[in-house]
Amino acid sequence: MAEWLGRQNLFDDECVESLPDPAFRAEGRHLVSFSTNNYLSIASSPRMVAAARRGLERYGVGNCESRLLGGNLAVYDELERKLAACKSKDAAVLFATGYLTNIGVLSTIPQTSKYARIYGFSGVREYTYAYFCDELNHVSIREGVRMSGAARATYRHLDLNHLEMLLKKSTATTKIIVTDGVFSQDGDIAPLPDLLQLAERYDATLYVDDAHGTGVLGEHGGGIAEHFGVSSERLIYMGTLSKAYGGIGGFIATETSIAKALRLACSAYGFTSTLPPDQAVALCEAIDMVVDEPERRARLWDNQRYFVERMSELSYPLVSTETPIVPILVGHEDAASALAQALAASNIYVDAVRFPAVPLRKARLRVQLNAGHTHGDIDRLVDALRAHEHHLEAMLAAPVRATEDVANP
Ligand code: PMP
Repeated sequence: MAEWLGRQNLFDDECVESLPDPAFRAEGRHLVSFSTNNYLSIASSPRMVAAARRGLERYGVGNCESRLLGGNLAVYDELERKLAACKSKDAAVLFATGYLTNIGVLSTIPQTSKYARIYGFSGVREYTYAYFCDELNHVSIREGVRMSGAARATYRHLDLNHLEMLLKKSTATTKIIVTDGVFSQDGDIAPLPDLLQLAERYDATLYVDDAHGTGVLGEHGGGIAEHFGVSSERLIYMGTLSKAYGGIGGFIATETSIAKALRLACSAYGFTSTLPPDQAVALCEAIDMVVDEPERRARLWDNQRYFVERMSELSYPLVSTETPIVPILVGHEDAASALAQALAASNIYVDAVRFPAVPLRKARLRVQLNAGHTHGDIDRLVDALRAHEHHLEAMLAAPVRATEDVANP
């Protein structure tokens, strides 16, 4: 079994000795990661660590309660207020992880009218729900939508004509369009203003997973809506605290009524312990850092532009060049792994993303730029890629083996 799965980890001992900021240690070596979500390099910053330490000393290590049952510290409310403010929304609801946020919220939304009736809102009529999802949405979205039991339709990636056709056909009373803001494996950005227009036209809600946009896009790091300069009551934001904010957790930023309904009906909120209090204290600090240390975001985008410019010297196809996720399309799964291994030998770490995370034969090296990279780091990556460029044609043309000729999920 393990043999056909191949090696999942670039390192022989399967563990790293420190976490990328973006430099890290593994197998006694010093490497630079081009595949960390710690975009602003704040996870191990002295300011964030000092805040976590304050939280640790004040509250201890874990929160062994649900917030609904005695575990609601003021710092969670403060964190939610800060998250709501940075998304220009009335309210936010905190979850233990981003994954849990998507599966919890998306599986719950179609149940909320039932809860309203149980709690005595007798005027609430029977709603029918339908989800409309981009085909490349994150797996946690797909899981949440599937678990909801609601009708679902999938539109081709970023194909708004296809989406409109599906919206037109639907008879559901509540239509919810769901999209990644920045697509996690392709790095491109959902066209939020156009999606909002469609949401208006078809009286739909728009749920945006801004995991890779929060802290990264927009002048103040507010994410995709700040980037496009749009706002709407129809928008529900989902975000993670485990990427640019450098901690762990997920959240929804939305209207007060929706937040209240989720606190009541969403078991992923009420029936599990919440994130540790030291994390909450550190994350309040991280939200401030994202705003008052704008030089981090400036360095991230300078590095993004420098990498894209340097890659124009080489013939590797780039999946997109709009965000700090700049994936290099390699094609064959084995070739992507081999290229990642070759880079690791030069102390450069890049994830080889393979089926089923991406469609079969669309394996790629998912390069993520970081505020902590130097131009020298980027030069080393580009030079190492140049050294393997002569294999490129063979990589892209590698034949599909009969045993691997299976449908993409
Ligand atoms: N949504 C997207 C688009 C993601 O990329 C991820 C993490 N890879 C998640 C949700 C889940 O976030 P977390 O790791 O905080 O659970």
